Amino acid sequence: MNQTDRIRRAALAVLATSALSAAPALRAQDAPPTIDPAQFSACLNELKVSQAFRAITPVTFAQHTANLAADPSVLVLLNRQPEFTMPVWDYIAVLVDDERVADGRAAYAKWQGTLQKIEQQTGVAPHVVVGVWGVESNFGQNLGGRPLVQSLATLSCFGRRQAYFRGEFAAVLRILQEGHIAPDKLVGSWAGAFGQTQFMPSTFFRSAVDFDGDGRRDIVDSVPDALASTAKFLQNAGYRRGEPWGFEVKLPPGLDTSDASRKNKRPIDAWRSAGVTLADGSPLPGSLPSAGLMIPARGGPAFLVGRNFDTLYSYNASENYGLAIAQLSNLVGAPAGTPVGFVQPWPTDDAGLSRAQNRELQTLLLARGHDIGSADGMIGAKTREAIKAEQQRLGHKPDGRAGQKLLAALRRG
Ligand code: CA
Repeated sequence: MNQTDRIRRAALAVLATSALSAAPALRAQDAPPTIDPAQFSACLNELKVSQAFRAITPVTFAQHTANLAADPSVLVLLNRQPEFTMPVWDYIAVLVDDERVADGRAAYAKWQGTLQKIEQQTGVAPHVVVGVWGVESNFGQNLGGRPLVQSLATLSCFGRRQAYFRGEFAAVLRILQEGHIAPDKLVGSWAGAFGQTQFMPSTFFRSAVDFDGDGRRDIVDSVPDALASTAKFLQNAGYRRGEPWGFEVKLPPGLDTSDASRKNKRPIDAWRSAGVTLADGSPLPGSLPSAGLMIPARGGPAFLVGRNFDTLYSYNASENYGLAIAQLSNLVGAPAGTPVGFVQPWPTDDAGLSRAQNRELQTLLLARGHDIGSADGMIGAKTREAIKAEQQRLGHKPDGRAGQKLLAALRRG
């Protein structure tokens, strides 16, 4: 994984803040460092004449950095280690729930004409574009709220990976200089991912497209620009027209899966000969020339995934994230009422919760007197603490995880 991927993933953990959980409350040891304004100002003065900022005019630089204060809280997030690792079934349950499928169907219906034109130009299937849109920003509803210039200027001057962030800071100033997006609309994740596609600023210059023809590549406010930019990103990553991302499969008993990997691709005929079928037992279709076997959790669903799955992976360098996009895209195109789960259940007796179930769980926690704010369906630090307390009371393992068993127990009182 290269540095951009790592940052992107770090940013994702927080983008996941919009999709999966409320921004974690800062712990005592997470107190933001004190930043000397004079040191910040001196750093900006050095940057503006440095090679990385050669495309930025002094006027642009001054316009967007005058009176700019650093934001030390982004440095806390830069150093944060994930304190809670979510099992794949929890991850998928919240990202691919009935609500998001319904929203995806509505989005597809509304933007069908645009999506078809985008497919003609890029080859990327409309449902896949909708799947990315839904997982990245909940169809434009979760864009992040941190001012990009402030976050990226801070990360360019303090903390780890300053060289990387300087490139992103220069790119965000170039977006402003070229007038693609209004300054007050340039907000996003703490690490600089923004807009309906959650691109980093450097990704913007590789993949953002002006699809509505107004001369600006506006991935914040123009849905056609955002959708076409998503498709362009996937096209740049090697998306192949007409190929599915892959499919859930059924493995024959005794198949050696020790070298199973998304990357370890074999011709589809080889998988057929080995006895692999679609999950419902029907033969593997010929629409995918070669595929790798991906098993996110032993004993759970297995997937044959092709080149187009790799393009979804490249969006966020996470197989689970790619799988969420893939499954959402399938369901958006499936007959209404298709269950959101896979044919083979996950190997757990305590499945994950949808956002609606998270809200119900939070409502039950509030009713029991836990101070967790509002029932917003996002499981953050406060909700986890309340869950631990209830798990202790009920004699469950106090791991802070929101699952079906806890929800059922709280429903009983
Ligand atoms: Ca435009």
